[in-house]
Amino acid sequence: MPVKLPRGYLSVSQIRTYQRCPKQYEYQYVYGMKTTFGSSFLLGRAFHKAIEEANRAKMETGEIFETEQVADVFSDAWETEKEEVEWKEDEDKGQLKDSGLKMTMAYYEEHGRNLSPFLVETGFMMEVEGIPFQGFIDLAETDGTIRDFKTASKSPTADVVDSSIQLAAYALAYRELTGQKEVKVGLDYVVNLKKGPKITRLETEIDKGRMERLKATIQGVGQAISAGVFYPNEEGFACGYCSFRELCKGK
Ligand code: SF4
Repeated sequence: MPVKLPRGYLSVSQIRTYQRCPKQYEYQYVYGMKTTFGSSFLLGRAFHKAIEEANRAKMETGEIFETEQVADVFSDAWETEKEEVEWKEDEDKGQLKDSGLKMTMAYYEEHGRNLSPFLVETGFMMEVEGIPFQGFIDLAETDGTIRDFKTASKSPTADVVDSSIQLAAYALAYRELTGQKEVKVGLDYVVNLKKGPKITRLETEIDKGRMERLKATIQGVGQAISAGVFYPNEEGFACGYCSFRELCKGK
C-alpha cells in the first residue's frame, strides 16, 4: 500500500522531528503549524549561507573569497533573517552577531578556504524502501569527502559522526547521484566558547550496517507517519523548547 506523507516525502529534519516527538511532528507537518526559532538557529543559518556562497563561487568560477567577503555574506544573511527570531529578553543581539562573525571568519581561515567543492547544496529525491526521501547535500569535495557544517555552544562528543542520520543520508544520496561510494563523511563544528571559537573536524566512514539501519529508520518512520501514529513524547529535552507546548500541555 502506498505511504501517505504530509509533504509527499520524508527528509532528515522530518525524521528528527518525528523521533524527538511524534506529536510535535503532527502539529508541524500534518496541521502545518508554524514553529518559532531562536538565535542559535539564526547563527547556524547565516554561517551555512556564508560557507555555501564561498564554496559555490570556488566551484563555479574558481574565485577564492577573501575572509571579509565571507563575513559580509554572514552579515547580510543575519540582517535579513533576524526579524523572524524569537529573541530572549536577556540576549544581546549585537554581541551574538559579533560572535557569529568571529566563528565564521575563524572557520573560513582554518578550513573553509581550503575546501575543494564538487557538489554544493545539491538537491536529491529518491525512493528508499518505498518511501520518497528528499534533501540537500551541503558539500561533497573532489576527493569524495562529504561534509556538513555545525555551529554549537558546547563541544561535540567524538562519536557524534557515528550516529548522525544526516551523514548517512548524504552518503546514500551521493551514491545515488554519482554512482560511486563516498570516501568518508564528516562534520566540521565551530563551537562558540567564551575564550573564542573552537573548531573541531570529525570524520568517519559509512559501513553497510549503518546504511541498512538508515534505510530501516526511513521505512519505519515513514510507515508510522502514514499510519497516523502521533503520540506525545514528554521525556528528553523536546518539551522545553517546543513551539506547541502551550497547545499540547496548556502551559
Ligand atoms: S510539548 Fe512535549 S509532548 Fe507536547 S508536542 Fe511538544 S515536545 Fe511533544
